[in-house]
Amino acid sequence: MSEMKVCLNCNRSEEKTPLIVLTFKGETKHLCAQCLPILIHKTHLLAEKLPGMEVTAHE
Ligand SMILES: [Zn+2]
Repeated sequence: MSEMKVCLNCNRSEEKTPLIVLTFKGETKHLCAQCLPILIHKTHLLAEKLPGMEVTAHE
C-alpha cells in the first residue's frame, strides 16, 4: 500500500503541486490541477489509470 499522494496522470507529488482528491470505486485518487482538464476533456487518456471508468465522447 502506498501513502504517497501523487497525481495519477503525471505522478507529481503533493510536495510539488496541489493535488485534487478524487474518489473512484471506493478508492481515493489524486490528480493535480494541470491534469484536471485531461480528466474532463480527454478522459480516454486516463482510462488505463482508472480501469472501468466510463469514457464519454465529447462530440
Ligand atoms: Zn498531474
